[in-house]
Amino acid sequence: MSIFEQYGCKKVINASGKMTALGASAVAPVVADALRTAAMDYVDVSELLVAAGKVIASVTGAEDGCPTTGAAAGTAIAAAAVIAGTNLSLIESIPNTNGVPNEIIIQKGHSVHFGAPIIQMLSIGGAKVVEVGQANHVEKEHIADAVTDRTAALFYVKSHHAVQKGMQSIETMLAIAKEKGIPLIIDAAAEEDLRKYIAMGADLVIYSGGKAIEGPTSGMICGRASLIEACRAQYKGVGRPMKIGKEGIIGFLTALQRYDDRPDESQQQLERMKWLIEQLKGTPGVTGTILQDEAGRAIYRAQLAIDAKAAGKTAYDVIRELESGNPAIYTRNHYANLGLINIDPRPLLEGQEEIIVARVKEILAK
Ligand SMILES: *Cc1c(COP(=O)(O)O)cnc(C)c1O
Repeated sequence: MSIFEQYGCKKVINASGKMTALGASAVAPVVADALRTAAMDYVDVSELLVAAGKVIASVTGAEDGCPTTGAAAGTAIAAAAVIAGTNLSLIESIPNTNGVPNEIIIQKGHSVHFGAPIIQMLSIGGAKVVEVGQANHVEKEHIADAVTDRTAALFYVKSHHAVQKGMQSIETMLAIAKEKGIPLIIDAAAEEDLRKYIAMGADLVIYSGGKAIEGPTSGMICGRASLIEACRAQYKGVGRPMKIGKEGIIGFLTALQRYDDRPDESQQQLERMKWLIEQLKGTPGVTGTILQDEAGRAIYRAQLAIDAKAAGKTAYDVIRELESGNPAIYTRNHYANLGLINIDPRPLLEGQEEIIVARVKEILAK
C-alpha cells in the first residue's frame, strides 16, 4: 500500500508528465535521503540560503540564486524584489506599494494560467501588472511605450502555456530593458536549459524545482547579485507565507547538483513505449504510434488514436474511465479533441506500462 493510500487517497499512475496536480516529480533515492537527513537536523537558515545561492550560481552561471518553494513563489518574490529591493519598510508593506515604481509589463499572450494565473502571482508580490498588445499580437512599441518612471520590470513567460506566435522575443525584451535601464524577469518554470536565459542577459530567471530538475516541491530564482539579495530579503515579508524549509532546500540542491549528470533514460523510455504499442496491436478501436516531443526534446510518447466508431467510445470516454479506475491512470490529453491520448513515459514507475495496457484493453473490450 502506498503512503498516500494509507490516508485514503486512491493510487495514481502518472502517464501525463510533470504535473503539479499529481505531485510533480517522484525524486531519486539520493534526493529522498538528503531530504530525510536535513529534516532531522538544525541549521542557521539565513546561512543556508546564502550557501544555496552559491550552488545555484555554479549550476546556472548566474551571479547568485535564491531557493523558493516553487516557480509561482519565485514569481511573487521576484516581483517584490524589483519593487522593494532591500528596503525593510517597503518589504514589510508588500503587496501595498503606493508611491514606488511598481508596474510590471507583460505581453498579453503571456498572461497565462499554469494552474493559477501568472498575474495573480505578480500581484501578490506587489506588482501592478500592465498587459500590453493583444492576445495574439504584440509590437515592440507596445512594450517600449508602456515603460514609464513607474515601471519596475519587464516579465517574459517561456512556456508552452504562453502564446508562441505574434509575441515579441526575449532578445527584443532584453533590448528594451537595457535601453530603459529596468530589469527583465523570465519565468522559465519547466525549461530544461538552466543556463540559457542567464547567458542571454536576463536579470532574474525563475525555475520550478519539481519539473525538469526533478526535485521535491521547490524552485529557484537565479540572476544578478543585487537583485538576488533583494529576493532573499523578501523572506522578512511577503516571502514568509511561501517559505521553503531546510529539508526542501537540501532536497532541491541535491537534485540540482545531479541535474547535469542525470542518467539519460530516453532510450529505455522509447523501448517501453514501443512495447506498450506492440501489446495493443490488434485491439479494436485503438492504433498506437511513437511521437517525439513537440519541442524536439528526447521524449518519446506513445500516442493512442481512438477510433470512436470501432471503439464505441470517444477518447474522452476512455480518459474518463482511465481516471476513474483504481489505480487511477492519468494520461496526457492536450489532443483529446482529435481522438488522441498520449502516454508520457517519464513519470511511469517500473512496470506501470503493463497496468496501462491491461486497463486500455479492458476499457475497449466493454
Ligand atoms: C508550473 C509553472 C509555474 C508554477 O511552478 P510551481 O513550481 O508549481 O510553483 C509557473 N509558471 C509556469 C510557466 C509554469 O509552467
